[in-house]
Amino acid sequence: MAISLSIASLNATPQTREASLATAWCAERLAGVYEAAAPTMAIAVTATRHADVVEAHVRVQGTFRCACSRCAEPVELAVDAEFDHHFVGPGQLDAGDGLEGDDVGLNDDPDVSEHDGAQIELDELCIEHAILALPDVPLCDEDCKGLCPRCGINRNTETCSCDLSEDRASPWAKLAQLRVQKD
Ligand SMILES: [Zn+2]
Ligand SMILES: [Zn+2]
Repeated sequence: MAISLSIASLNATPQTREASLATAWCAERLAGVYEAAAPTMAIAVTATRHADVVEAHVRVQGTFRCACSRCAEPVELAVDAEFDHHFVGPGQLDAGDGLEGDDVGLNDDPDVSEHDGAQIELDELCIEHAILALPDVPLCDEDCKGLCPRCGINRNTETCSCDLSEDRASPWAKLAQLRVQKD
């Protein structure tokens, strides 16, 4: 299941590989917010190699389920993320350190890492990018009205007669009372 590319099999001609990753593994790392809605994520990798440097273009597609952060209704989110990653030869990331001049450390670039000279493993990168593509605050709809803070009904589908202006005013009303008491 792991997505690995053999360095020796790559060359200047782009090669595409397709694979799948267990969505559950990714969902596990999302701290219980997301659940896997499909058993696998589809991965497509196009890679080229020039000397020691491997350039990979990766597409990750999967589906996750979660609860809307405002109304708690179930939401299904499709992930379709693409990213580019460069792999340099063993020891090359450190080689740039300590050199003078305009050298921008490769170490600082999250899209560059080292390969071990034999294989490139893509699982972790695919999962990281799938996670990055998911929102921190998932919503069923941008305009989700959420739940009524008073009676708890879903304000997208029902209406209630709760007077919420009173809730909003209360901190000030209390403050005014305090002032009156002090005087
Ligand atoms: Zn919602
Ligand atoms: Zn209400």
